[in-house]
Amino acid sequence: MGTADEDQTGEARPRPAHSLISTATVGPANRGRLLQALYDMGPSSRADLARFTGVSRGTIGGIVQPLIDQRILVEGEVIPPKQAGGKPATKLWFSKDAKPICAVLLMHNCVRTCLVSLDGEIYAQNNADFPKDLSLADEAFRVLSGCIERTVTSVDLPVLGIGVAVGGMINTETGSIVGLSLAPCLDGFPIGAELSKKFGVPVCVDQDARALLVGDRWFGKGRGRKNFAVVYTGEVLGVALYLDGHLYRGPAGAGGEIGHTIVQVNGSVCKCGRRGCWETIATLRWLRDEARVRGLPQPASLDSRRLLFLANQGVKGAEDLLQAYAFNISIGLANLQQLMAPNHIILHGDVVHGGGQMLELIDANFRKLILTRPGDEVTLALGEIEDVAALRGAAGLVLSELLNFAL
Ligand SMILES: [Zn+2]
Repeated sequence: MGTADEDQTGEARPRPAHSLISTATVGPANRGRLLQALYDMGPSSRADLARFTGVSRGTIGGIVQPLIDQRILVEGEVIPPKQAGGKPATKLWFSKDAKPICAVLLMHNCVRTCLVSLDGEIYAQNNADFPKDLSLADEAFRVLSGCIERTVTSVDLPVLGIGVAVGGMINTETGSIVGLSLAPCLDGFPIGAELSKKFGVPVCVDQDARALLVGDRWFGKGRGRKNFAVVYTGEVLGVALYLDGHLYRGPAGAGGEIGHTIVQVNGSVCKCGRRGCWETIATLRWLRDEARVRGLPQPASLDSRRLLFLANQGVKGAEDLLQAYAFNISIGLANLQQLMAPNHIILHGDVVHGGGQMLELIDANFRKLILTRPGDEVTLALGEIEDVAALRGAAGLVLSELLNFAL
């Protein structure tokens, strides 16, 4: 679900570029901002929330009470009054009884589903693989909906909605798949509409790097930040940007194709058909091809974790390849930093498995490649192991839509 409204014919039409917030939207917008403040600060009293959002405690009380009545928030730990006679305050946090969100991670060869509580806890996980000779969208949808069914029926509560993170290109206005490489039968599939029809709840669909960003925004290292980027590395490369407090998607979700920015004029041919894309020098495919050429053991299954292990063992050629891989990854990160200045970049995917040592190598190269202004602090960080982060992010997409977060 994106930024389109439906007209009477049911067709999506873009919102006017300068539409104002209607009075009917102000209430939900404030509620969204308050919940976002709660995610940023952790369990908080009404007074803390009033201070943080710059409104009166009365206003906070008016927003909070319906959320308590709907069992979205709950009063928790009691804070003793500072002086005798004061009224004790309680800390507010997300209720364990609130309806969970069903999160779905859809890749070209498999699907993962789980429930995510409003405070980010993951449970009721299920997996399913697509058949190797997958050729029909209906067949893929049967596997996908069966996996979701097993997850949502494992609890008595209904779910708040379904959030889907897709490892491919998405049209966020129509909720359909534009392209899922290696599973072409799903190209053009209206996944959002089909899931909504089957399960009767709101469905939000976006590409996986943006889901990772949303997950980091609420549950991870992006908390409380107004600007940051998420970069995914591995089989493919992807980026998602959070700029001035908003997720930037580009028209109908077309942004984020950093893997196909050109870093080597007349370089190797990319799978997109052009030459010298960042993907030709910084994916696992490049790493494995290079490992084969350089004679490293078991090149076909090489990743950051094993490359570091080989380098630390002193295996011939491993250290050089490690340095080259870290340098190649840092090139794309530096280009991103120069253009948009996110100033905080959270890395997901393969490099996370390389841990702190991998991060240090990338960071050292990155710093040599960027030009910063005096006083600007630019940091790189590692995200969580990818599946957990992507599933939380998929759930976050639903929160964003239903609770009107300022995304
Ligand atoms: Zn390309």
